[in-house]
Amino acid sequence: RTPIRLDSTEDGDSGNWPRQNSLSLKEWDIPYSDLLLLESIGKGRFGTVHRALWHGDVAVKLLKEDYLDDEHMLEAFKLEVANFKKTRHENLVLFMGACMNPPHLAIVTSLCKGNTLYTYIHVRRDKFTINRTTLVAQQISQGMGYLHARGIHHKDLRTKNIFLENGKVIITDFGLFSSTKLLYCEMGLGVPNGWLCYLGPELMRALLPRKPTEEILPFSKASDVYSFGTVWYELLCGEFPFKSQPPESVIWQVGRGMKQTLANLQTSRDVKEILMLCWSFQADDRPDFAKLLSQLERLPKKRLARSPSHPVQLSRSAES
Ligand code: ATP
Repeated sequence: RTPIRLDSTEDGDSGNWPRQNSLSLKEWDIPYSDLLLLESIGKGRFGTVHRALWHGDVAVKLLKEDYLDDEHMLEAFKLEVANFKKTRHENLVLFMGACMNPPHLAIVTSLCKGNTLYTYIHVRRDKFTINRTTLVAQQISQGMGYLHARGIHHKDLRTKNIFLENGKVIITDFGLFSSTKLLYCEMGLGVPNGWLCYLGPELMRALLPRKPTEEILPFSKASDVYSFGTVWYELLCGEFPFKSQPPESVIWQVGRGMKQTLANLQTSRDVKEILMLCWSFQADDRPDFAKLLSQLERLPKKRLARSPSHPVQLSRSAES
């Protein structure tokens, strides 16, 4: 097997960037033998993630060997590296390089040491105050606004892919291997828990219970904004929208423009409005991340009344 090549003409650059700025892959190549692989952190659809040592702690995503002969996967891998190398933002995981010599294909990023928002919300069941929720959402909007400005759609924005490290948001897994395509190919319409509720109506309507080989769902900036709405909802409510409903029912409701009811959500109109805008049925009616950021910045800060007999932090809160 030969090393994967990725030069300036095939690196997935959108054309908005001068060619000379497009660094060749070589500069990002990390010899696999330079990595000291430690324990596995988890398994994703495309392979395993390990903690490793390479000039300090790093995370290494190893592509499953089964995929090495799959042209689509290799294409997706190249695209991922191409996308990754265009990103430098404090709220995005730091791309450090890639191993490009089969059979060891891997992406090396900084290791996120905090927990994911998913863990805080759904596992530890921590309560986020509205002020903290807003700060987290602002950072997500900043990272996402940057990605969109670089022409990259996240396609998989969800609380499992957002880390919180000492109060700082780190977004991972952006523009990855066409995950939906993989899902279709491997399982027909297999839908993992906690994934469907991030898909906007246009994506729901494009889901088909068969195995397309070439079709890709119509991901867009607006579909990322819809996903952000779901993250906002989870932060506010501590649960997923359409909780415990079967996938067919969620697909049917969202595809027809129905939304999770907010009747039991005790919060201000401004906060609910952000949710409703992000979940707009028409993709064009959803705000972009710059607009969301300014809306979030305008939300009034809730003052916490301090009194000796009533400590401010009555409940365990995530990362204070
Ligand atoms: P899917 O493949 O469906 O997206 P996933 O998001 O769980 O599933 P991966 O992105 O492969 O899969 O991640 C596997 C595990 O590794 C997850 O628990 C994730 O939190 C962890 N992980 C991924 N990247 C990092 C990182 N940079 N630092 C620390 N942990 C990470």
